[in-house]
Amino acid sequence: MLYIKNIQACFGDKKILNGISLEINKGEVHAIMGPNGSGKSTLASVLAGKEEFQVEDGEVILENSDILSKNPEDRAAAGLFLAFQNPVEIPGVSNTNFLKSAINQIRKKKNLPPMGYEEFFEKLNFAKKIMKMDDAIVSRCVNEGFSGGEKKKNEILQMLMLNPKVAILDEIDSGLDVDALKIVSEGINNYKNKDNAILIITHYKRILDYVKPDFVHVFINGKIVESGNYELAQKIEENGYN
Ligand code: ADP
Ligand code: MG
Repeated sequence: MLYIKNIQACFGDKKILNGISLEINKGEVHAIMGPNGSGKSTLASVLAGKEEFQVEDGEVILENSDILSKNPEDRAAAGLFLAFQNPVEIPGVSNTNFLKSAINQIRKKKNLPPMGYEEFFEKLNFAKKIMKMDDAIVSRCVNEGFSGGEKKKNEILQMLMLNPKVAILDEIDSGLDVDALKIVSEGINNYKNKDNAILIITHYKRILDYVKPDFVHVFINGKIVESGNYELAQKIEENGYN
């Protein structure tokens, strides 16, 4: 479903990604674990199409179409979703309107009419319930004054609403208390099905106790140096990256 081949990327003259290859099939959950500053968020940004990074080599194919040549909006329309490590606040735009326009922008690119009022609110009510978010927070401006945990839940709410083919979740578990971690995990498990795929970037095994990964990859200095299963996450937790 998502095929990443030999991605090399820089920020200015600093090389950050040194040849990342990864194949993620439908129905799979992959986890990337690696030290601070190793380039995990850079990989997420490069996949989502952030322009500050220069991709020097490599390929990214999402369901047979090359996405590196697409802009971020077209990548989203192709089914790619990124939950940011540090979600941005968007003052002046209500969460509800933001979700509506994100959904309809994607539908427009697919030559579909805007989503009907009833369908939208049916989906939103469902997602709100799973994420245990109330009307007050959903109608506030996007992430404005949200706590760290509320921002992370809001990223998953967006994912549930957009229902992407591939979701990249960058440190979605950082800063969450136990209850919020459970809710976020429940949201992810609710989204997960046999036709989509998930890439979780994390420092901690604990989210992987709730969202079971099929593969775990160790990421060091812009390279995947080892791949394995859940047990690899356990090993890292016990021994660090050495
Ligand atoms: P990780 O997510 O694994 O902690 P990052 O991808 O955020 O690592 O960062 C990898 C390296 O790239 C770091 O050395 C970081 O300082 C650098 N880097 C990333 N983004 C920028 C940026 N916008 N400006 C300058 N350096 C950056
Ligand atoms: Mg990061």
